[in-house]
Amino acid sequence: MVKITDSLFFIPGQDEMIPDAHVYLLGKPQSGDLSLVDAGLMGKGRYKMSALTEAGVRPADIKRVIMTHTHLDHIGCLREILDAIPSAEVWVHTLEAEPLERGDESTVYGMDMFRQMCQTQYRLKDGAFTFKVDHRIEDAEELRIGGEAWTVLHIPGHSAGGIALYDAANGILIPGDVVYADYSIGRFDLHGANARALNDSLLRLSDLKVKVLLPGHNRVLTDVPEGYIRAVAKQWGAYLR
Ligand SMILES: [Zn+2]
Ligand SMILES: [Zn+2]
Repeated sequence: MVKITDSLFFIPGQDEMIPDAHVYLLGKPQSGDLSLVDAGLMGKGRYKMSALTEAGVRPADIKRVIMTHTHLDHIGCLREILDAIPSAEVWVHTLEAEPLERGDESTVYGMDMFRQMCQTQYRLKDGAFTFKVDHRIEDAEELRIGGEAWTVLHIPGHSAGGIALYDAANGILIPGDVVYADYSIGRFDLHGANARALNDSLLRLSDLKVKVLLPGHNRVLTDVPEGYIRAVAKQWGAYLR
């Protein structure tokens, strides 16, 4: 587990054929009110849990898993993590919470070809990713968790109910798969994706003061150049119409 600030830690994804999302741990260690952001790929629950326990985190202190969105590479091991922390709540944006509770896996797999491939490879049955959602997250919600304040931003485009978490006081942004390091952005061809919405979401994020960018995959940026997200939005604007 990698320390980013005194109340923010990072468990790097262990990519296989399919990527494994990074997991972020939010909250002051002594608060007893910790949150995970995202879970990861199938089979990675044990790795994520041992990274936490080796760092001295008590599983019972983890009160919730907040999903940036419900793609397979983020939600694949959510069940494994909930088995290890049965008291943890699941928080998902309203637009992805409803299908998730119904067992509609269109967003989880993103496309039929991918569903078939993954179900075969991981021996998954239809409905394997059905979850009770304890809290439906909304845009502009102010979260007071773990002794810190985070603002929720609904940033659709990569998926319908994608969210970012923003810590304005410290300029920290957790944008899921919407924007990455190295001027890359999330794909916009899967179920629920929308190029124009992604463009709007990038522009919305451009208005934030961001010093630390913590995406769902690849490099984390702890010294984001001024205007970085605006430059990314500009670079991709022509493709996002
Ligand atoms: Zn995604
Ligand atoms: Zn992802």
